[in-house]
Amino acid sequence: MLAYDVPALISELRATLRGTASGDPGVRALYATDASNYRVVPDLVIVPADVEDLATAVQLGARAGAPIVLRGAGTSMAGNAIGGVVIDVSRHLNRILDIDPQARTAVVEPGVVLTRLTGATAAHGLTFGADPSSASRATIGGMIANNACGSHSVAWGTTADNLHALEVLLSDGTRMQLTAASADPADPADPGIPGGRAAGADGRRLAMAARPGREGEIHRALQAIAAREALLISRRFSGLRRRISGYPLERLLPAHGYDVARFLSGTEGSLAVTLRATLDLVELPAATVLLALGFRDSVAAADCVPLVLPHGPLTMESINATLVDRLPREVRGAAVAAGLPPGDAWLLVEVGGADPQDAARAARAIISDLQGSPLSVTSSLVTDPGAQAVLWRCRRDSTGLATRRSDGAEAWGGWEDAAVPPERLGTYLRELDEILAAHELSGASYGHFGEGCMHIRMDFDLLSRRGAARYRSFVEEAADLVIRLGGSCSGEHGDGRARSELLEKMYGADVVALFDEVKTVWDPAGVLNPHIIADPAPLDVDLRHLGRAKDRRLQTEFSYPQDAGSFAQAQRRCVGVGKCLQSSGGVMCPSYQVTREEKNSTRGRAHLLWEMLEGEVITGGWRSAEVRDALDLCLSCKGCLGDCPVNVDMATYKSEFLHHHYAGRVRPASHYSMGWLPLWSRFATVAPGAVNALTGSRLQAPLKRLGGIAKERDIPRFAARSLRSALRGRTVTGAYSHGEGVATRRPTSPGGKVVLWPDSFTSFLAPEVGTAAVAVLEDAGFEVVLPRRPVCCGLTWISTGQLGIARRVLRRSLRSLDGYLQAGVPVVGLEPSCLAVFRHEAPALLPDDEGARLARGLTFTLAELLATYAPHWTPPQVGGDALVQTHCHQHAVLGFEADRSLMRAAGISATVPDAGCCGLAGNFGFERGHYEVSRAAGERVLLPAVRAAPPATVIVADGFSCRTQIGQETGRVPLHLAQVLAAALPRPSTLPGPSGPPGPPGP
Ligand SMILES: Cc1cc2nc3c(=O)[nH]c(=O)nc-3n(C[C@H](O)[C@H](O)[C@H](O)COP(=O)(O)OP(=O)(O)OC[C@H]3O[C@@H](n4cnc5c(N)ncnc54)[C@H](O)[C@@H]3O)c2cc1C
Ligand code: SF4
Ligand code: SF4
Repeated sequence: MLAYDVPALISELRATLRGTASGDPGVRALYATDASNYRVVPDLVIVPADVEDLATAVQLGARAGAPIVLRGAGTSMAGNAIGGVVIDVSRHLNRILDIDPQARTAVVEPGVVLTRLTGATAAHGLTFGADPSSASRATIGGMIANNACGSHSVAWGTTADNLHALEVLLSDGTRMQLTAASADPADPADPGIPGGRAAGADGRRLAMAARPGREGEIHRALQAIAAREALLISRRFSGLRRRISGYPLERLLPAHGYDVARFLSGTEGSLAVTLRATLDLVELPAATVLLALGFRDSVAAADCVPLVLPHGPLTMESINATLVDRLPREVRGAAVAAGLPPGDAWLLVEVGGADPQDAARAARAIISDLQGSPLSVTSSLVTDPGAQAVLWRCRRDSTGLATRRSDGAEAWGGWEDAAVPPERLGTYLRELDEILAAHELSGASYGHFGEGCMHIRMDFDLLSRRGAARYRSFVEEAADLVIRLGGSCSGEHGDGRARSELLEKMYGADVVALFDEVKTVWDPAGVLNPHIIADPAPLDVDLRHLGRAKDRRLQTEFSYPQDAGSFAQAQRRCVGVGKCLQSSGGVMCPSYQVTREEKNSTRGRAHLLWEMLEGEVITGGWRSAEVRDALDLCLSCKGCLGDCPVNVDMATYKSEFLHHHYAGRVRPASHYSMGWLPLWSRFATVAPGAVNALTGSRLQAPLKRLGGIAKERDIPRFAARSLRSALRGRTVTGAYSHGEGVATRRPTSPGGKVVLWPDSFTSFLAPEVGTAAVAVLEDAGFEVVLPRRPVCCGLTWISTGQLGIARRVLRRSLRSLDGYLQAGVPVVGLEPSCLAVFRHEAPALLPDDEGARLARGLTFTLAELLATYAPHWTPPQVGGDALVQTHCHQHAVLGFEADRSLMRAAGISATVPDAGCCGLAGNFGFERGHYEVSRAAGERVLLPAVRAAPPATVIVADGFSCRTQIGQETGRVPLHLAQVLAAALPRPSTLPGPSGPPGPPGP
């Protein structure tokens, strides 16, 4: 442990840097873990403004004797990126400095995210050869330090293999420019460069050793070690392509071109800091096809690898049924439709070619070889790029899915990354199964089988000392097996805290002593990522879940049925894989996408909540201001519930937190104004005109201030007539003893009775949506019933964390439905987020309530109801184009397939942009202080798409929030799908039509 004066260092950094340096608990808590099993709270966190700032920060930290840990996206799975002084380079050091299509190189800063780079290079038909599954957030600096690989390494190699040159900084401030041997003008392999051949390899080494100062000193010391230990190094460092563990000393041998640049790749930031990198780019194949092969189990899939490899595939990725079975139903269905063949384990073999026919021919040659083998294999050749993308998604999502077993038990990495020679992979899997059985463990595996690298997460007990001891003994035995088979404890994730201790087993004490010697050459003060690789920390210290948090028994309002009723267990869901940090695609996580701050990501919030439970740095418990601040910009969009591989449900955790945080205290004004909106709406309908006149008058500004509403937002306008009033005169008394209500005039109807849920937004702000829905439902032959009493799902109280009142409102409303629910009458909801309450929150708020249980299965969107109860109804032919915004709660909880089918059946040509949350998200976008983030979230995709849509294109949005955001920010008037259908009904509806401008905040 290095001792240094933390406050003094912070002061010096603050006085010198243009970026930030913070020792605040809320910031330190954010960086306490990466995607591993380990947790070390940093002393301080630095976010440099640029490369020069980074260099200054490293030098000041080193001079103070502080342990310095560089950090990209923090997706390391072995504890490689935690502890000491964390320097986050992902925030600002993310410029692509140059792409040279002729030379096929790119020059980047270390914080550039891989998919950003490959997005830019694709325009030139080029890509970067290494492609980890974490590509959407992994940074080039982190990839270089870990020597990250990925699915295409079987064809294009690892990150190190694709390095052209590096500019690095040493802890003493020395800067070095290093060129990979094959790219060095002085290298004999490059005869086109004048003087290159003449200088020769020896000349190049000598020239480096002759450099002045520290740089020459380092080269001389490395060359002396290489010369002295050449025999030992060449014996112990086999040719295994995925030998990522330890320092790659063989690259220092003359036979390997004394390649110091590529030697540094894989040293995990423990020798030098990458300031800039020049990367080699590879040509994208002209055409690819995907050959999906099915097997009875993963062992059979592994046995197949040596038969396919000689065909030169671009990938050979494995996945098994344990994981595929747990993909969301529609993803699984899509995978089968895309061509996933029968089997319980699969290999995804990508094959390239000069054109699609050429690629297909090469793939068929593989199939024909396999048919002649004794292996039992099913196959399907997938040529359609869309179908290929579906299968690749299955593979990508499996990483996160593996973190839970199908029965909900937790599964961990730790032994997740070993690699063996591909021809021994089958043997490895068989023998690993025996070790697992002996330790009574199980795991779900997937991986880069073409390279002999298998990932697996197991149900270790990492919550108890006894479990940790068992973990150690399992890992030691598994390491022995891998070493016996000529493999490597790490095949791509690096050693970090999880495997550095195993290096002695793998390489021997003499090689480990060499690692220490090499570390001293580069970093004599031992300040760069200490105890990683050299002088290793034991693999069972700093285990993340051995602290106090796991024992916290908290009284909670939600029942957390998926987490055994435990808030702490729910917080263990986030394993830090960082999918929530990606910049596009899906809904998760709008606040991060807009602000790019860790604090505003799902992961950041999850980490803070965990640290709140630990109570070591975040000490305020439910009253913590740090947690409240991190949750402030959470839109409660539920994007994470749907998109996070382990379904982190931050909207629920936020509600829970707000409930306790404000218990017995004055709340923010918006909790009283918008949190109680259903009640205020009911009062307002007594005299909506007067209320609208008041809120539209000069009093608007003070009223907004009083209600905690953003000044940029218009106060909602109430409809002249509520939905109930609009339907009056069309009603009959219902027949159910408890639930009798008002029904529309259709006493006999083939579709049967349906309850229309009159949510507060439809009832008081957009009744035209309700009347349109009634018209559509009647046309489909339903008798539509409204509950007799006013009802509310409690959404606005839930989202503002007023859970006591939410529960009471919900329970009372459910009582109004009792008779219908017990008779099996379906309930149709028009507002997606109110419906999502019945499917998601209500059962967890009222776990013992029979009505909540029944409502979960009997509540439907309009499209779902029509598909389920009126499958033979032909919708009106609407035709035309529509731009459709899926409500984020619909995306996460309800699903959108029924809507797509209904629109298809109505002849609507629907474009559904991958727009994410509209940004308004109920009360969020209306609250003071949220406008900028709310608008920016909408401006990412949705609002520009709406503005670009031709006037004849109908804008469809079922969510009141989405319609409001679109209306206020673009001037277009979006419609609910019910309105679009109703307008095209053959018989004009006698019901009041759409009216009024877009109104107030909706759910
Ligand atoms: C879901 C998931 C899937 C993954 N799939 C793969 C995969 O297919 N293949 C694969 O190889 N890996 C994979 N990984 C592991 C991980 O994503 C990669 O190692 C990735 O390259 C790490 O990048 P990062 O930006 O997150 O780095 P971090 O985790 O932040 O840091 C990684 C290491 O780099 C060091 N570092 C960061 N920046 C610098 C710098 N400028 N100078 C010096 N050192 C620096 C850190 O100190 C640390 O030791 C996966 C991880 C996850 C969570
Ligand atoms: S919230 Fe989900 S996606 Fe984000 S890091 Fe945690 S587990 Fe990964
Ligand atoms: S609910 Fe939405 S904003 Fe909040 S953490 Fe999840 S994805 Fe991010």
